[in-house]
Amino acid sequence: MSTPKALFCPTCRKVVLVTEAEFPFCSDRCRLLDLGKWASGEYKVSSPIQDPDLLEELARSQGSQPRPRRDDE
Ligand SMILES: [Zn+2]
Repeated sequence: MSTPKALFCPTCRKVVLVTEAEFPFCSDRCRLLDLGKWASGEYKVSSPIQDPDLLEELARSQGSQPRPRRDDE
């Protein structure tokens, strides 16, 4: 399909437009911070995501993911 017009900065979650010079990062600083995290092993895949907005965003982007079951449904 088409390239998204904006993404969240992987470092600070700020919205970044594809027209930004440092896309997908909002700034050169965030790009360097992100590289530093990977280099130092600070990223941990096992750490749970607790931001409901982010979870919703992830679920939507994956499309086929079942919605989390809720007791009131
Ligand atoms: Zn950023």
